[in-house]
Amino acid sequence: MLVKRALKPCVFGLRNVCGPRQALAAVTARLQHTQPESIKHPAASTRPETSSAKTLMDIGTRRIFNEDHDIFRQSVRRFFQEEVVPHHKEWEKAGQVSREVWEKAGEQGLLGVTTPEEHGGIGGDLFSAAITWEEQMYSNCTGPGFVLHSEIVMPYIVNYGSKEQIEHFIPNMTAGKCIAAIAMTEPGAGSDLQGVRTYARRDGSDWILNGNKVFITNGWMSDLVVVVAVTNREAKTAAHGISLFLVEDGMKGFQKGRKLEKIGLKAQDTAELFFEDVRLPASALLGEVNKGFYYLMNELPQERLLIADMAIASCEFMFEETRNYVLQRKAFGKTIAHLQTVQHKLAELKTEICVGRSFVDNCLQLHAERRLDPSTVSMAKFWTSELQNKVATQCLQLHGGWGYMWEYPIAKAYVDSRVQPIYGGTNEIMKELIARNIVSQK
Ligand SMILES: Cc1cc2nc3c(=O)[nH]c(=O)nc-3n(C[C@H](O)[C@H](O)[C@H](O)COP(=O)(O)OP(=O)(O)OC[C@H]3O[C@@H](n4cnc5c(N)ncnc54)[C@H](O)[C@@H]3O)c2cc1C
Repeated sequence: MLVKRALKPCVFGLRNVCGPRQALAAVTARLQHTQPESIKHPAASTRPETSSAKTLMDIGTRRIFNEDHDIFRQSVRRFFQEEVVPHHKEWEKAGQVSREVWEKAGEQGLLGVTTPEEHGGIGGDLFSAAITWEEQMYSNCTGPGFVLHSEIVMPYIVNYGSKEQIEHFIPNMTAGKCIAAIAMTEPGAGSDLQGVRTYARRDGSDWILNGNKVFITNGWMSDLVVVVAVTNREAKTAAHGISLFLVEDGMKGFQKGRKLEKIGLKAQDTAELFFEDVRLPASALLGEVNKGFYYLMNELPQERLLIADMAIASCEFMFEETRNYVLQRKAFGKTIAHLQTVQHKLAELKTEICVGRSFVDNCLQLHAERRLDPSTVSMAKFWTSELQNKVATQCLQLHGGWGYMWEYPIAKAYVDSRVQPIYGGTNEIMKELIARNIVSQK
């Protein structure tokens, strides 16, 4: 409530000076008058789609957004340009971002955008969250793991947590004072989550947790980790014996390993985590015992949707970088944009990116209406992340040797693209999910 009351003036007159939190309050206020969430924006029919916009990153485009979203986007863009871009090189060297940027993002209302206000979140709509995902990709700064914290971890706590867990964690997570991670993957279990070995055994009303996790985003900086563990080794299938636990930094027996050295996402703190006889109170169990696998299956589609949206946003960024480059780079007395092969390459890339954008916007709309099914979102994740890598390769090629130099944004976008077909469920697993649906439907 506080957020909306404090920010009302922004909606009615201070549009040019308000920050993301104020702009988001405008979106939220409008939403309350346009339930259900399926949108009918007054000006929706006049908004150009990206294919007809001047650039693929223009503000004021796409039917799924309205003018309040545009104001929010403007301020999120400013946040990334002012608070993230100037520090990113330094964070790449450190292998992590600063705590300060988390708190600044919290102050600006960029964390927990879709988490309901009554639970301590911001209470914005899915489209506002998508703006934060896209703007991060447009800034070409993959360091801050805001997305994983806000739209992957927070929903687990809000959807399955107790009142006490929600009250304890969500306000601090929204403020950027409690950084969250989720630990599913283990050295011996990635795609096959049912192969998880981390084990929590009962000890009176407590649990004793043992095991280790790998590749955990935000792992090094995390204050809170949602840990996937086996709780019933005798269950009829492994999926029936998995639970989720809230493990906090500083608990005895919880150790963080090294920050892993990755080929990309260099400013993101991906870590190993170790649990040795960590005593967890009963209140650390998230949701019901042995229901963890079911919760994971429920939440993974949103993770895949945001990967898809970020993949297309990255394509849009790389395309615009490359357009600018070929328009100024000269060879044989003319800019290379004069060469028909270059023009045709750009035409092909733009077409594919706009086709992808259209599908992903449709998925965003479906998800806002809670109608996005696992097979459709798997198509989005698989296709867009492959496209992102294709666009990265071809845009880098159009930069020639300069594209191979770290100082050029396309080089960073290229290496950062590579992980997208791997995490969030590999693309091979996405094809399994799509195929399963095909053969079972007849
Ligand atoms: C930068 C980064 C960040 C990450 N962040 C997190 C995080 O925050 N939390 C977390 O829990 N995990 C995280 N992961 C882990 C990620 O989700 C896993 O790496 C991914 O699920 C694949 O698991 P794996 O690495 O064990 O590969 P494997 O499962 O060993 O797969 C190896 C290969 O076999 C293929 N394969 C496996 N099974 C099948 C099948 N049934 N059919 C066809 N092909 C198959 C895969 O597609 C892949 O090509 C992250 C990974 C990276 C690289």
